[in-house]
Amino acid sequence: RSRPGGVARTCEGTGAILEPGVVAAGNNGAILRAAEAAGLAVRGLHLVRLDVSRLRAFYAEHLEKPFYPELEAFMLEGPVVLAVLEGEDAIARWRALLGTTDPAKAAPESLRRLYGEDLTRNGVHGSDGPASATRELGLMAELL
Ligand code: ADP
Ligand code: MG
Repeated sequence: RSRPGGVARTCEGTGAILEPGVVAAGNNGAILRAAEAAGLAVRGLHLVRLDVSRLRAFYAEHLEKPFYPELEAFMLEGPVVLAVLEGEDAIARWRALLGTTDPAKAAPESLRRLYGEDLTRNGVHGSDGPASATRELGLMAELL
């Protein structure tokens, strides 16, 4: 399909992680409801504990950053929900629903503003582009 301007719209998948703070607080349903309300289909859904080697592969680009140890401890503190969300422009649309990285700076109704606790414990992950979505969906499949 095409739309005015000739930009092709593609049905695609993106990787979502509902982080340990969200799971512990009982906010899985609210976040998945928001995804579905926005027209994103929940195609894969698993509650899992991440293991450290796969978490490090997932966050390869961040391993050397000063915040990484805190991020790793957080992501291992309890189970997460992994989901594959599908729809037209799913990657960009899920990122828009999340809001910016820091919940305190994210838009008022965004998911990180509503459900994130701080910059590290920001509630929800979303793949940031087509290449990372492909990579992350592969890693997520291995985590199951
Ligand atoms: P995003 O998740 O918005 O794509 P990044 O890829 O830059 O953000 O960072 C990955 C995750 O690392 C963030 O979601 C957040 O949990 C954590 N993080 C990023 N930057 C910082 C920081 N400066 N201090 C603490 N945690 C951070
Ligand atoms: Mg990122």
